[in-house]
Amino acid sequence: MWNYNSSLGSRIKALTAPTNLDAIASRIASEGKVICAHAEPCDLDRRFVRAVYCAYLDPMLFDLFFNSWSGYRAAYFRSTEEGQKANARLLSRLSPELQQYHPVGPSVDAAQSLKAPSAKAWLAEVARGLCSCCASEWKPSPEAPAEILNGRWELSPDLLATFGRAAPLLRKLRVFGGFVNEHGQELVPPAKVRRAQDIHDWGWS
Ligand SMILES: [Zn+2]
Ligand SMILES: [Zn+2]
Repeated sequence: MWNYNSSLGSRIKALTAPTNLDAIASRIASEGKVICAHAEPCDLDRRFVRAVYCAYLDPMLFDLFFNSWSGYRAAYFRSTEEGQKANARLLSRLSPELQQYHPVGPSVDAAQSLKAPSAKAWLAEVARGLCSCCASEWKPSPEAPAEILNGRWELSPDLLATFGRAAPLLRKLRVFGGFVNEHGQELVPPAKVRRAQDIHDWGWS
């Protein structure tokens, strides 16, 4: 797997300890505190709506999920297929807990949205917040030294890789269902068709 910048200090032991994404997903399902649930229509076609949730995690658990050797992005780093499989398992593990919260907004089939292949999890990004609860807690710092060193993300000149090579220690996990319509069809915005490859190549999408 990859190396960490020694500036991460005591975090490195936990980030490299053997575990797996199923175990991390179970901890998120039981320990995560859902703070908001939204139904968000797609800008490209408002007949397609997704369920979006935000949950608070202990920062150490967020770290395991986002930055560790056994985490979400590590699966995509190994291969796009492994990343997509890990993503689908995570979503199916979290879906029952998330469905206990009613998404605020237009009508959406949350189960269908969370089951859609483009459903995903990520940190709370800039300008993507839907309410004050899920507002961003992440700031891009493209000039910062790489924190994840894997022979790929720290070498790419792409702006997304400058985000991807960081190992942010945050609290908010956002879970996005796919955009689905009343017939259960899914709309994947063109910019997100490449998502798995983006994370593989740059650690970010
Ligand atoms: Zn590759
Ligand atoms: Zn919110």
